[in-house]
This record gives sequence, structure tokens and C-alpha cells, in this order.
Amino acid sequence: MIKVVKFGGSSVANAGQFKKVKNIVESDLDRKFIVTSACGKSDNEDHKVTDLLYLCHAHLKYGVPCDSLFEIIKKKYLKIKEELNLSINLENEFEKIQKSMTKNISVDYLVSRGEYLAALCLAEYLDADFIDAKDVILFDYDGKTNFDRSRIELQKKIVSDRRVVIPGFYGALPNGKIKIMSRGGSDITGAIIASLVNAAIYENWTDVSGILVADPRIVDNPKRIDYITYDELRELSFMGANVLHDETIFPVREKKIPINIKNTNDPQNPGTLILDTCSDKDDKKAPGFITGIAGKKDFTVFNCTKINLSNEIGFLRKTIQVFEEFSVNLEGAQAGIDTINIIVETQEIEEDRYMIISNLKEKLGFDEITVVDNLSLIAVVGRGMSKKPGMSAKLFGELGLKNINIKTINQGVDEINIIIGVDNKDFEKSITCIYDRFITKGENI
Ligand code: ASP
Repeated sequence: MIKVVKFGGSSVANAGQFKKVKNIVESDLDRKFIVTSACGKSDNEDHKVTDLLYLCHAHLKYGVPCDSLFEIIKKKYLKIKEELNLSINLENEFEKIQKSMTKNISVDYLVSRGEYLAALCLAEYLDADFIDAKDVILFDYDGKTNFDRSRIELQKKIVSDRRVVIPGFYGALPNGKIKIMSRGGSDITGAIIASLVNAAIYENWTDVSGILVADPRIVDNPKRIDYITYDELRELSFMGANVLHDETIFPVREKKIPINIKNTNDPQNPGTLILDTCSDKDDKKAPGFITGIAGKKDFTVFNCTKINLSNEIGFLRKTIQVFEEFSVNLEGAQAGIDTINIIVETQEIEEDRYMIISNLKEKLGFDEITVVDNLSLIAVVGRGMSKKPGMSAKLFGELGLKNINIKTINQGVDEINIIIGVDNKDFEKSITCIYDRFITKGENI
């Protein structure tokens, strides 16, 4: 059985964390492929190496010296080397990087060095082989991962059954140039490697013990989600639950590889297991109707009215097209007999709101357009809600009892997600009261 394990920045923030990683890796012979982020923050005063490297790049671009910044990075890695008694020639590596630190240095190359150096140190510390991501995570020119080429190159690099450490967050374009992923991208590297080697499981080690039912900044001590499906997780992540990089799921999902979110600082905690589908056996452990609650503030609704618009074919498309012309991403669209409601993130339309209104009026002849700001969207997600009559009645009833006015409602036919819109001022109160009723008071069974 092969396990791919990815350690986030906080798991490799200092020598102490490296020791925890070693214990975790060595306690399971199946943990063969190790992907690492760059060193993260050791404490609140500290800085993430990736942030510092971005900052170095900004300095170089404008011709401002960045020696003192780079010095912080060097010190961090040298301290880890010293405390772990490593023999790696880091000075040599720093020299190579510093030689290329000119005005035109590629941001991708420079920023990727955080993961590269962390992986070099970790490989020596774990007595594992180092494989550079630029040789095995191969992108096409459009930035998409080329799984076939990557698999072939990875197979060529695996010369023994020793453990392998691979830096996360970057790969190479067909011309060999390094390309980084979006922030938090080491999650994606781990998922790609898991897919390439057909891993039995992808363990994602971080500093929290899995995914929580609700945001701990809103709900006190929320429960952990034991089991969640990929679909549910996507719904929750989209609505702001921030655990895994969004794109992480695709490579592993295709092969139905489970993801286990684990805590490097509490390795015995089972964390959260993300599965393609949860069997009945797993569902016994599932929290019931609701798996998780997430939400975001600050949406705007364009409420557009025209008598009998529902009789005009293509009206909704034409309305949406106006938003498309302003490159605005829609969060929702609801059409009635005489009205269309378009929901967007407020920040997306901040600059163009009046142009959008005038375009809607001119091009579609709306009689009236009212714009409502300060809307929050809350997603109540759970495979357990599907085909269970009365669930939305209970949910809406609870909000009604708490005097919370629901402004929009949205549910798809797969019924794993009910999205409600409330005033920003009711956001926290809504999440807390849904949690209290359905999770704390056990109405969730
Ligand atoms: N180091 C990168 C970042 O901070 C990638 C990662 O940690 O996943 O975004």
C-alpha cells in the first residue's frame, strides 16, 4: 500500500516540527511519498518563507535591495540545518539563488525556492531520496498538469524503494522553466503525486485536526467532521471553509483516493476523511442531516423587474451576458414571472455597478432595477439532507424562531446543499443558531 503524505508550512516551520514529521513518517512504512511546503511561521512574529520570497521579488523588480529579507530566509534554513545536524551544503544553494537575483529574475523560480530548500533538508533528515518537482510535475503550456508525461518522468526517477521527498507548489513548463501554482499549491502537488502513484490514501498534514462543522471564529469549539464526501467538501470550500486548496480534490477524486486531513501536532487524532461516497458504515459516524455549515459575507443582489419577462425566450441569458461583459462572476441567478435576481460578490461590481445598471436598462429594457447590498450567503451542506422531507422546514423554522429574516433561498436537486441569504448583520447569529439546533442539541439525526 502506498501513502502520499503532504506536510504544510506549519509542519516544517522549525527543527522541532521537522522532528514531529520524522516521527509521523517513520511510524508507517507505507508513507513512501512525502511532499512538503516551504517553512511556515514558527510563531506570530515569524513570517512564511513564501511571503518573504514574494517580497524579495517585489524589491528586485523595483531595484530595491532585499539582502536583509533574504538573510531572514537563510537564517531560518540554517538554524534548521544546525539543530538537526544536517550536512547539506545550504550555502551553495543560497549562492546559486543569490546569483540569479537580478531585476529580471522569474518570480516563479524565486518563490519556488522555499519548497525546494525545505524538501532538500527534509530528504536528508528522513534519509530519503530528493526528487525535484521540476522534473516530475510537468505542465503543458496552458498551465494544466500533463499527467501522462509526469507519470513517465516520476517512474524514471524512482530507482529504489526508498522514501522520496518532493517539493510542493511548483513544476515545469514544456521548456523546462519553473512554474508555480496558486497559493497553497502544495496541496495540489500532493494530490497529483497521489494520482500518479495510485496511492491508497493521500494524507494532508496541517495544524488543525481536520475540518470543523463550522468556523471556530463564529461557533465555540465546533465538532470535527469525521467523514465528508468530495462533493460536500467542494460546497463548503466554495462557501469559505478554508482547509484544502480548491483544486486539490480533482486529481485524487478521479481515482477515488481518500484524503485524510491530519494534525502534525496531534497525530493520534483521526482527523477528517474525505471520500468519494460515504458507505452506510461510514454514515453511522456521519453527523446526520448536516455535515457542515459555511458562509461568506458581502454579496449584492440586482433585483431587475420587467412585466412578463418570463415569456421572452433568452431573457435570462441576455441579462447574464451583461454581467459577463463586465467580467463579473455570478453567485446565483433566480428568475420569476416579472423579476430576475442576480447575486454577485459586492467587490466584483464595486467599480462598475452604475454601468451595469445602465447597460441592463438600455439593453434589456428593465422597468426597474433595485440593488441590495450587505447580503450574506450561508451554505448548509449534508448528504444526509437528501430525500429527507422536512429538513428545510426545520432549518427555516429555526431561523424564523430566532427572528432572522431569510432573503434568498437556493437548493439544487441533488439536495446536499441549501444556500440561504440573510443580512450581513444576521450572519454570525444564523450560523450559531443552525449549529446549536442541529449539531449541539442533536436535532441532526
Ligand atoms: N508555500 C506556498 C504558499 O504559501 C504553497 C503551500 O504552502 O502550499 O502558498
